[in-house]
Amino acid sequence: MEITARIHAIEAPPAFYTGPQAPNVFLVTDGGEGALIDSGFGDEQSLRARLEYLRERPDVKVRYIILTHHHFDHTSGAQRLRQATGAQVAMHPQEERFLLDWQGDAPQDLDVPPDQQAVAEQVQRFRQQAAEAVPDLPVTDGAVLAVGGLSLEILHTPGHTLGSICVYIRAERALFTGDTVLGLGTVAISPPPYGDMALYLQSLERLKAVAASLMLPGHGRPVEDVARKLQELIDHRHEREEQVLRLLAGGKTTPRSMLGAIYPELDRRILPMALRQIEAHLAKLQAEGRVEPAGPGGWRVV
Ligand SMILES: [Zn+2]
Ligand SMILES: [Zn+2]
Repeated sequence: MEITARIHAIEAPPAFYTGPQAPNVFLVTDGGEGALIDSGFGDEQSLRARLEYLRERPDVKVRYIILTHHHFDHTSGAQRLRQATGAQVAMHPQEERFLLDWQGDAPQDLDVPPDQQAVAEQVQRFRQQAAEAVPDLPVTDGAVLAVGGLSLEILHTPGHTLGSICVYIRAERALFTGDTVLGLGTVAISPPPYGDMALYLQSLERLKAVAASLMLPGHGRPVEDVARKLQELIDHRHEREEQVLRLLAGGKTTPRSMLGAIYPELDRRILPMALRQIEAHLAKLQAEGRVEPAGPGGWRVV
């Protein structure tokens, strides 16, 4: 799908359920060179579709596969795409240990309920594949990768994960946001050491200053109303934080006891994610000296 003459989304049949939408993979091209933004899933069907798409563009030499963060829905296809294209895999150094530790318990974009053994096994295969995508090129904030005459600027935007990056193409005013901003809904933020709510809000504030006219998210549709979307996300987190403080003051002292008030229609499959979300708010408030631990698993307002 063409987004602009130099930016395309490489679609693949929906291979695996990870929430409302499959991960996006973008191809940026200019002057006979290209870069992929994220790799999508590593299953045969997705890979075949994406490799076929690249084969139909023999004029494009893919130089980089830029991974916005370590989660397997964005990275498990990277090794095969690297082998096929000879591109270099670029990623923020803070993501690498989570990528490589595929048996570790870093939260992903999908929680697998304990009774779904087949899904759990597929996730482990994807994570193992993702760990093969050992980055060739660590990229930190301010790095610039050239693709033809285009400059791809790396912005370090921690929050969803600590090494999440966005990629900005000034000439197109296009911002690839990974899972920092989605095309639909809000993204899961885990508490440290995996994510950080305070850093997430700082990252969103920073993206407001970029003055992009188009955001291309890791999941969902492109976002054209950039400033409004970013403000909505910031406001949503501030409202949720106020809600957590109100619930604490009202006697709901543990994340579990707050669940019903915050997520009245919670699907049990996302229960761990919902708990981590509340914990992420509490960790931010604790760092700011506004709440403190009180009793087993509980908190109180300072
Ligand atoms: Zn994702
Ligand atoms: Zn993610």
